[in-house]
Amino acid sequence: MTNRANSSPPGDKPVPPAPPPPPPWRRWLVPLGIALTMVLLFSPSLNGMSAEALSYSDFLDAVDAGQVATVSITTDGVIDGERPDGTLFTSRLPVAAGDEGLLARLEDNGVEVEGAGPQTSLLSILISFLPILIFVGVFIWLGRRAQAGVAGQIGGFGRSRARVIDAERPETRFDDVAGYAGVKREITEVVDYLRAPDRYTRAGARGPRGVLMVGPPGTGKTLIARAVAGEASVPFLAVTGSAFVELFVGVGASRVRDLFADARKRAPAIIFVDEIDAIGQRRSSGGVVSNDEREQTLNQLLAEMDGFEEVQGVVVLAATNRPETLDPALLRPGRFDRQVTVPLPTQAERAEILAVHARGKQLAPDVDLGVVARGTPGFTGADLANLVNEAAIVAVRATREVIAQDDFEEARDRIILGRREGSNVLLPSEKRAVAIHESGHALVAAYSDHADPVAKVTILPSGMALGVTQQLPVDERHLYSESYMRDSLAVRMGGRAAELIVLGEGSTGAANDLSTATDLATRMVREFGLSPALGPVGYSSGSPMFLGTEEVRSRQYSEATQREVDREVARLLREAEQRAVDLLTTNRRALDELAELLLLHETVDGEDVYRVAGRDAPKGGQAVTVTG
Ligand code: ADP
Ligand code: ZN
Repeated sequence: MTNRANSSPPGDKPVPPAPPPPPPWRRWLVPLGIALTMVLLFSPSLNGMSAEALSYSDFLDAVDAGQVATVSITTDGVIDGERPDGTLFTSRLPVAAGDEGLLARLEDNGVEVEGAGPQTSLLSILISFLPILIFVGVFIWLGRRAQAGVAGQIGGFGRSRARVIDAERPETRFDDVAGYAGVKREITEVVDYLRAPDRYTRAGARGPRGVLMVGPPGTGKTLIARAVAGEASVPFLAVTGSAFVELFVGVGASRVRDLFADARKRAPAIIFVDEIDAIGQRRSSGGVVSNDEREQTLNQLLAEMDGFEEVQGVVVLAATNRPETLDPALLRPGRFDRQVTVPLPTQAERAEILAVHARGKQLAPDVDLGVVARGTPGFTGADLANLVNEAAIVAVRATREVIAQDDFEEARDRIILGRREGSNVLLPSEKRAVAIHESGHALVAAYSDHADPVAKVTILPSGMALGVTQQLPVDERHLYSESYMRDSLAVRMGGRAAELIVLGEGSTGAANDLSTATDLATRMVREFGLSPALGPVGYSSGSPMFLGTEEVRSRQYSEATQREVDREVARLLREAEQRAVDLLTTNRRALDELAELLLLHETVDGEDVYRVAGRDAPKGGQAVTVTG
């Protein structure tokens, strides 16, 4: 097996999409409101009605000069006046200083005087409250928007139950899901059940309740679930595990109850839980902080699934990339007792997926989707959908409406470069290195008489491994001979040996091979008495597991013995490597040929490996050893 260099789990789910942006006019709402306030607050024209402002002295002069017809004076000293020609002015009474003689002086000059209360026009009240109003308004608006976002993110299953009422009835059909014939076959049972649940009840059979779809993100699990709903024409209620944990803090359990209550009302129906590992993780798995909230949500989910007894026709489909982290209680009979693996698409399936997404697009006659599929190992269905779209964009940029083969190539390179972090998508040069590495394992196995026969070699990534060589033991073994173990060491060394021979240097891809080989060699020396230098000693590690990976335990022997053990382990490994290098150097032609085959087809059957090796294929058995 070839290892990924970095140790982050492959392809974590991307965060759920952000809520759709508000319509353009709404984006201007807040700035507009602020601008309006500014204008109202600072515009003198609204406050003073375009009146001339006079100082108090000027006002008195005007009074003396007979230039004032009427004035109104408020209690807080604001003077509004009118001249004989009708023009307006304002002034202020120096309230602090006081002017006892003013009234008499006005009377003397024949000015008509009015009194008034404090100047509080409706407008000024409004103006003083406007900033606060706007503030409150903005807060309410932001709050609404956040809530709408929450509801949107989890597929319409939000606070308001009204939203859930129009649960989706997808139009998706199995035809829209390219490839995956096996998956479809397995899941057809669910469709049959949903179409006529009472048939099961009448026969006293328990219908399917939960199906766990296991596979990397983007391989079409959601699509398949929708297709099941579409084929059975039942409502589709979707939630995302991480949304439950993040958004419904404190109310996760009651949301689960609501969800199932809603599904029961609409039965037959499908509940789809994406990323179920977010709620379904093993309970109290030694974490420092136990997550009560999550456990309650999970317990509720378990209780609801058990409660299906009386109800007919609700099936829960769930998706995850990490089934091993799930709480075992989830996988018990009556819950998610069916597992369907949704792997990365094979080359042929990739071609089909490309064809589905190329529907309705114009392809140039030179486009061969088979070639595109060959060039995209490790791509998921989502990657391929994206690839077709990117190719169309490339064509548009070149002001064409027809997509050419070159557009696909350019789009592919762009996606590979952009998507590499955290995904298993390989660069062409890496793909070649993996092909050479796996060919090494396979051929050493094929040329070794005591090794398990090769069943299959692939350079399709799976989990942490970039490629895998599978061997089928002829019989199930209970006892392993020394020659078997020595061959096994050589097979493990085969990957690195091939890289050394063809590429001239090793790589990170052999890490796991080396560590499992070292484990085995150490046990041969310490436990099985297979080293002439140490003789028939067995320092048991106490582990009944053979060929398992296990830590080196505390030792019960001297430092000198340890040195001897180290030396013997190194010798065994070096001999194994030498044998692998010799075998592959002598059969260099076969090595190159097998690597080419792998690059072309990604997966090569055991029979073809033996044909390339020029040997008769032995008959394989049942159990599989996946060897690096
Ligand atoms: P998952 O749920 O496994 O993460 P999705 O179902 O969301 O993946 O797939 C994302 C998109 O990838 C789909 O909407 C579809 O466009 C595309 N896709 C994935 N697999 C297929 C397939 N087998 N056939 C057609 N399209 C696919
Ligand atoms: Zn390997």
